[in-house]
Amino acid sequence: MHMLTLEQEINPWEAQAARFDFAAQKLNLDEGLWKVLRYPAREIIVHFPVMLDTGKIEVFTGYRVQHSVARGPAKGGIRYAPDVSLDEVRALASWMTWKCAVVNIPFGGAKGGVICDPKQMSMGELERMTRRYTAEIIEFIGPEKDVPAPDMNTNEQTMAWIMDTYSMHMRQTCNAVVTGKPINLGGSRGRREATGRGISVVCDHALKHHAMRPEDCRVIVQGFGNVGSNAARLLAAKGYKVIGLAEYDGGLFNPNGLDIPALVEYRASNGTVVGFPEAEAADPRELLVSACDILIPAATENVITSRNAERIQAKIIVEGANGPTTTIADEILADKNVFVVPDILSNAGGVTASYFEWVQDRMGYFWTEKEVNGRLDQIMRDSFTDVVSYAEKHKVNNRIAAYMLAIDRVAYTIQQRGIYA
Ligand code: NAD
Repeated sequence: MHMLTLEQEINPWEAQAARFDFAAQKLNLDEGLWKVLRYPAREIIVHFPVMLDTGKIEVFTGYRVQHSVARGPAKGGIRYAPDVSLDEVRALASWMTWKCAVVNIPFGGAKGGVICDPKQMSMGELERMTRRYTAEIIEFIGPEKDVPAPDMNTNEQTMAWIMDTYSMHMRQTCNAVVTGKPINLGGSRGRREATGRGISVVCDHALKHHAMRPEDCRVIVQGFGNVGSNAARLLAAKGYKVIGLAEYDGGLFNPNGLDIPALVEYRASNGTVVGFPEAEAADPRELLVSACDILIPAATENVITSRNAERIQAKIIVEGANGPTTTIADEILADKNVFVVPDILSNAGGVTASYFEWVQDRMGYFWTEKEVNGRLDQIMRDSFTDVVSYAEKHKVNNRIAAYMLAIDRVAYTIQQRGIYA
């Protein structure tokens, strides 16, 4: 039935485009608007030199793709990795447009990346590469144009360098040019754990929807980075039993629930979760298909595919990572009646807190953590209800409902603005 090779199945651009086409068709989207929204508005490719510590010059390739600025400045992270590609950045940029529209915040979508191996680079090399990449794309970013944020292998320090480089060129401090900054440079309280927090709110509502209680809910998490560890910590604190954790170098299982604060400490001092004494060792691939109520893939793309979807036992999947499930796996999970909360809804807590950071920077007035968390919880709760009721009303799965809702919002804005000629 499925004619795709695994390589085609896991191409993130194809995965995005397939869902977009299906949702646009369901919406009866005007053909012209379909063409406008199917492809990114702007794709910037830069090849730039950096002086390495050895005194040699290396040339790096960087991308910044702005999919849409219809609803506001483009918004999206920057990732550093050896396998960054234009197709991946395009897909991630489109996902950002849909994600911002699902949670109804006034941003378009963008993403950036540099092909590099950050693990092999010194701090000095990373700083020089970040500053030169920023200088290469400087006309295209800005608080009113396009606001980058951290993604894989970039962090608060990277954002501080981008903010400083941009500010030096503008001859004034412009902290609203990036989000995910350190708090003393204009970062927001609550931003660091916001994605995990959003996931925990979504889990609460998914459980209510299934008339289940946290105490009876077994959770398995893949990835113990920013998203996975914060989601696990907040869920455990609410009484959920986090029985399994899959990392790339090993997995942990404890049917009574892992002690997450102890695990966070263990990982901080040992650099790995492997060997944590209060759990059994488990095969990380098997954990994905083990018995549980909620599965949270919070590591990377394409982990639920045609190869393992049939064996998934979770009742609910809450996607922490971007693009963890392929289109073919979607169909298999739908046949098995698994309730999937799609990435563009469930991990939107991060960009929502980024929106709060941008608002606070522009006001020059900073909120308490309680204010940030209260507003975040409300947006996640309302967005969950919007998507799930849309799915029920239009008899589609949650992912297609989220796309339909988002595409409709963006298309409506374009129609109201009109086409500039
Ligand atoms: P991170 O680098 O902090 O953590 C990722 C973790 O996953 C690491 O501990 C890594 O060892 C582990 N991992 C990587 N590949 C794995 C594999 N194949 N199997 C098991 N474990 C693996 O990254 P993060 O910020 O937590 O992001 C994780 C995912 O969530 C990414 O897809 C990212 O795009 C997405 N996301 C992040 C945010 C955010 O605010 N950080 C927001 C939205 C979406």
